[in-house]
Amino acid sequence: MLIKNIRIEHVDNLQDMRIENGIICEIMQDVKAKEGESVIDGQGGLLLPPFVDSHVHLDTCLSLDVTGPNQSGTLFEGIRIWSQYRKNLSKEEVQERAMRTIRLYQNRGVQYIRSHVDISNDLTAFKALLELKKQVADRMEIQLVAFPQDGVFASEQVRKNLEEAVSMGADVVGGIPHFELTREHGEQSVRFVAELARKYDKLVDMHCDEIDDEQSRFLEVLAAQAYESGLGNKVSASHTTAMHSYNGAYCDKLFRVLKMSGINIIANPLVNVNLQGRFDTYPKRRGITRVKELLENGINVSLGHDDIYDPFYPMGDGNMVEVLSMGLHLCHMMGYGELNDSWRMITYNGAKTLHLEETDYGIAVGKPANFNIFKAQSFFEVLRSEREILWGVRKGKLIKCEK
Ligand SMILES: [Zn+2]
Repeated sequence: MLIKNIRIEHVDNLQDMRIENGIICEIMQDVKAKEGESVIDGQGGLLLPPFVDSHVHLDTCLSLDVTGPNQSGTLFEGIRIWSQYRKNLSKEEVQERAMRTIRLYQNRGVQYIRSHVDISNDLTAFKALLELKKQVADRMEIQLVAFPQDGVFASEQVRKNLEEAVSMGADVVGGIPHFELTREHGEQSVRFVAELARKYDKLVDMHCDEIDDEQSRFLEVLAAQAYESGLGNKVSASHTTAMHSYNGAYCDKLFRVLKMSGINIIANPLVNVNLQGRFDTYPKRRGITRVKELLENGINVSLGHDDIYDPFYPMGDGNMVEVLSMGLHLCHMMGYGELNDSWRMITYNGAKTLHLEETDYGIAVGKPANFNIFKAQSFFEVLRSEREILWGVRKGKLIKCEK
């Protein structure tokens, strides 16, 4: 297959790309079609690697019809509704909702997802998604995080479930230190999770400091653990919204250990702008970590949708450009250069967080032909008005995007 007239990763010159056996085998200007070769006109559109959602909960997505609505829109009502609903989860119901969510993502050019799965109550949802992950592997690459939503030290059963999920095939060990009963438990939970990850050779991704309390400082504990244990960039911290409220002197100290550790940060702008700031009168905080400053300091930041149409967030349809757009607004990253480069946060930065190097993520000769071609000619245009994907391609095959 030959794709003509494309702008690869924002390069101004129009180029052509040849794909054979699912692999990118030529990128040049004016490539002539071979006899019988199918030719697609890229119409001068922008070609980017597939989107990566670094943080979502496939076990809760699209559940709002069955859980009933969240009247206050707060996290606390969301947790209450979900805790009730999760007691009655069945494998089939979880898989059916997750499959619909995967289709939404597919239509929006996402090919890689990291999903947290709550294992606190039992392993029904985890087993369901482990099975589904294998079934959809050819179209969507899914990483599963064994996530103790109630806290590692909520009970002996949670710790048992966590280790069982990890031994069954979770890719990542999760945690939630700021939600543990005490600061001491929070710190212990970081060590517990890191030890489990080392024992089973897994990645780590903890919900970390997702609270407006400027005293919530588990990120430094997690980063120090990543540094001292040697886990390094295998560790990610999700949310870290408390950083929004840290003082400058502390942040300066914190950034040192973040840089030393190689830790990845994942921000979830849509969900956190909704859930944070709920205890503020006015002014109300924006509920997002310091994305701009982290990036300026060379720390890897990627973005997640977090929730889609569930008790925690009633909106969303798997559109990572919308996630990014909200993040850019909230973080004052609306300079022209920032807008044009911002796609990296939902592509390469996400790939780095998920350690996708092994899957040969990216656009280059010799790599698998996985990408999206947009109607727009620049990413600024994609963000501003033209989000339509002309062609999605996975392993050299066109993906049918339902319009
Ligand atoms: Zn989350």
